[in-house]
Amino acid sequence: MRIAVASGKGGTGKTTVCVNLAQVYGSHVQLLDCDVEEPNAHLFLKGAVRSQGTVTIPIPEVDQSLCDACGECSRFCQYHAIVSLKTAPLVFPELCHGCGGCALVCPRRAIRERDRRIGTIEVLEADSVTLVQGRLDVGVAMAPPLIRAVKTRVQPGTPAILDAAPGTSCPVVTALRGADFVVLVTEPTPFGLHDLKLAVKMVRQLGIPFGVVVNRMGIGDDRVQVFCVQEDISVLVEIPDDRRIAEAYSRGNLIVEALPEYRSLFEGLWEKTMGLRKVAEV
Ligand code: SF4
Ligand code: SF4
Repeated sequence: MRIAVASGKGGTGKTTVCVNLAQVYGSHVQLLDCDVEEPNAHLFLKGAVRSQGTVTIPIPEVDQSLCDACGECSRFCQYHAIVSLKTAPLVFPELCHGCGGCALVCPRRAIRERDRRIGTIEVLEADSVTLVQGRLDVGVAMAPPLIRAVKTRVQPGTPAILDAAPGTSCPVVTALRGADFVVLVTEPTPFGLHDLKLAVKMVRQLGIPFGVVVNRMGIGDDRVQVFCVQEDISVLVEIPDDRRIAEAYSRGNLIVEALPEYRSLFEGLWEKTMGLRKVAEV
């Protein structure tokens, strides 16, 4: 079972939900930090590093002695990462997604591939939580391949929580694909509602069942709840705007440990999520 946690905008408490949800699960659970440009779950789950490695993608390299400048590779590449102007093509590695298509379409087999490092993956063990985190190298703008590499580390048979990047762009969609359920975290503010609407549209297009967590209840108005009622969206839990939660967060502490009275709230989130997922399966 894979539960993805996403939000239409940053700073809504997505990682807070992920790490506390993982902590209260009660047996072995995996947490995949797919926010590879800014992984931060490790700040709350202080575990020992079990393994680490680099992630690469294959980048084309043209053998000019074989190339006849036909331009097939350039026409194929959607990302303009290989460009032929009736000449042997130029490769722009920072634009290349490593799909391998240009090498496949080259009629003269003039394209070889070399590995380009894009980031790292670390696996940490923190009690019953296995944390897998991707970290994109500085200056690399190629999050989806690294997120896919993080997702390959999921151990079948063990529940997995995926912490997606904020927003509704490609890295988020990459993290959400294959999820059984999506938890959308938002705030009860006009900005929160605006970005929630975008996130709801994205998840509906992906066809994944979902529910909403409203964080910092009490800071704004009830428009998020009204929207959820109108759209027949389940509000899974509401986390109050409690200064002590912000203090625990700023110290890198888990809410469920610093403030045990909130444990039942996250346990309830598991129950509701599992319940809605089962309903969606029927
Ligand atoms: S590997 Fe894919 S993305 Fe990279 S240059 Fe070739 S076609 Fe373009
Ligand atoms: S497809 Fe092959 S032969 Fe044609 S321009 Fe590209 S590298 Fe050269």
